[in-house]
Amino acid sequence: MVQISVSASLRRVRAVWKAEADDVPPLEADDRWRGDGPVVLVGGWCTTDPTLAPLRSWLERLGYSVTTHTDGAGMGCAARSTERLRDVVRAAGDGGRGVRLLGYSRGGQFARVVAQDPELPIRSLVTLGTPFDLLGVSRPLMVQVAAVAVAGTLGVPRLTRLSCLYGACCAGFRGLLRGPVPVPFTTIYSRQDRLVRWQACVDPTAGTVEVPGSHLGLLTDQTALRAVARSLHRGDVPVAAGN
Ligand SMILES: [Zn+2]
Repeated sequence: MVQISVSASLRRVRAVWKAEADDVPPLEADDRWRGDGPVVLVGGWCTTDPTLAPLRSWLERLGYSVTTHTDGAGMGCAARSTERLRDVVRAAGDGGRGVRLLGYSRGGQFARVVAQDPELPIRSLVTLGTPFDLLGVSRPLMVQVAAVAVAGTLGVPRLTRLSCLYGACCAGFRGLLRGPVPVPFTTIYSRQDRLVRWQACVDPTAGTVEVPGSHLGLLTDQTALRAVARSLHRGDVPVAAGN
């Protein structure tokens, strides 16, 4: 019963995301924003490769080599997800070039934790609509997360469990969500975001960029895509708050 309910709600979310992704207007890549080198794009809760396709396409047009990481559609154990992300970052940076990490929603949490590892070849971190507090999401989304965690606890494979949210399993991960990031760090957020509270996306150690639009629009809206381009391009210099 729990599994049926979770599946139905995920189908609804994916239908909305697909509709938004299919309606992306073309955007010109300004020469000032062009870059190169590897970018690892980390998906968030219920995010698959097709969901990230418009953002990936935009980054490739700017000149970056993009690897997407949507392990378990972002709904698995955070500790395991970050371990897999470490391997992805090592592989992407294998040529000796620093990796720019770009995380969307919960994917930004994985990216922030991984960015604190001094052994990894990470050049900068940009997060998009990422809450850095466990309760930084809307009540409906929190209910959905809890439903998935119950299903995971009851044995549905590859899903986060209650012990990931509140128990010992991901305690280390949760303790690093506000940890210091040793590379240039920018958070992009929207006050119109109804899934994630914008206040939870702000961090005193990061440059901040506010854009208009919805949580899903952060992946497709032109203002958000331009903000991503600028933030990646200025990756070696943190963006001043309010820019
Ligand atoms: Zn866990």
